[in-house]
Amino acid sequence: MSSKHSVSVLDRFRRLGALLEGHFRLTSGLHSAGFLQCALVLQHPVEAEACGVGIAGLVRDLGAQVVLSPALGGIVIGQEVARALGIRAMFAERQDGRLTMRRGFTFDTGEKVLVVEDVVTTGGSTRETIEVARSAGAEVVGAAAIVDRSGGQQRLGVPFYSLADILLPTHEPAECPLCLAGQPVVKPGSRV
Ligand SMILES: [Zn+2]
Repeated sequence: MSSKHSVSVLDRFRRLGALLEGHFRLTSGLHSAGFLQCALVLQHPVEAEACGVGIAGLVRDLGAQVVLSPALGGIVIGQEVARALGIRAMFAERQDGRLTMRRGFTFDTGEKVLVVEDVVTTGGSTRETIEVARSAGAEVVGAAAIVDRSGGQQRLGVPFYSLADILLPTHEPAECPLCLAGQPVVKPGSRV
């Protein structure tokens, strides 16, 4: 939550139930003080469009000619960013564990690509998407996400922009400070 802009975006997430604060057991089994689910914002097309317009405003000067997003999480926001920029949107998807461009998607040689995600946590899938674009002959001019939850640790090697920053550390249950404080743990979506 590093800026006024972040606060208003995250407030919208809270209002839509896409950002919960408390003590949660995530599907990974780890515990966290926060739960973030962008799909709960993006299910509202008006909200998805607003996020796309917001990101487009941050990246317009990069001169991207096409958006590439990793499926599934990046597809909706990638489409909205591309719509706001007036460029096309493609996606890469996993096949046998590897991120790949399918469905006849191609780049022109040297075409300028913006990689768009919903959330960047470690930056792993963003880096993988950047590699997919490069190995298909494109030039990656930047990356963008609705939410950066990496705490500035994403290390993508290209200019990176996000609408909001939030740090939500995860803990092994045995080392969870909220468990140690005796706070009951819940699954996201159950009544607190
Ligand atoms: Zn805990």
